[in-house]
Amino acid sequence: MTARADSIRLLCLDVDGVLTDGTVQLDDLGHETKRFNVKDGLGISLWRRLGGEVAVITGRSGLAVRHRLEELGVRHLYSGSQNKFDDIRAAADACGVPLAAVAFVGDDLPDLPAMRACGYPVAVHDAAAEVRAAAAFVTTAAGGQGAVREVVEHLLRSQNRWNEALAMFDSPSAPDIRAGSGGLQHEQHEQPQST
Ligand SMILES: [Mg+2]
Repeated sequence: MTARADSIRLLCLDVDGVLTDGTVQLDDLGHETKRFNVKDGLGISLWRRLGGEVAVITGRSGLAVRHRLEELGVRHLYSGSQNKFDDIRAAADACGVPLAAVAFVGDDLPDLPAMRACGYPVAVHDAAAEVRAAAAFVTTAAGGQGAVREVVEHLLRSQNRWNEALAMFDSPSAPDIRAGSGGLQHEQHEQPQST
């Protein structure tokens, strides 16, 4: 499949090592916490605001990812993925996008089947050598350090739409594009009782 950044409509992301630096942090109770980069969050929001689709495909499962994606308004999450080839196809089907119009960002060997199936495979800077070799584009940033934000800018520039993204920040009355369309955006907070 010829790699074409300018025709990408669905951005598929791995989590550990792509949206994070790959650290898996467990507390004494075994609960997992993750660190996300706000620049990646902005990139995802920009991409969605400009009409792009986002799906996340991860071999692990946990609430931290779910909460972060809810904040960003990402509705397509494939967690506990045993086969990223099947899941990238499912994500493409769910979004009504051909695989040629799908980019996948990965960092390690389980990502290879999805990268080989999609139209535009991307590796983060600190990805495994085989993953970098399979990529049409390798980011300058490492996983968890703004690599996804870099991919979004790369795709939008390829599509001559980066100025459109920048224009969102021209007006002082511009909407806060960081906010997703997930449920949390409209969450009501009860006032504490003053008894
Ligand atoms: Mg990974």
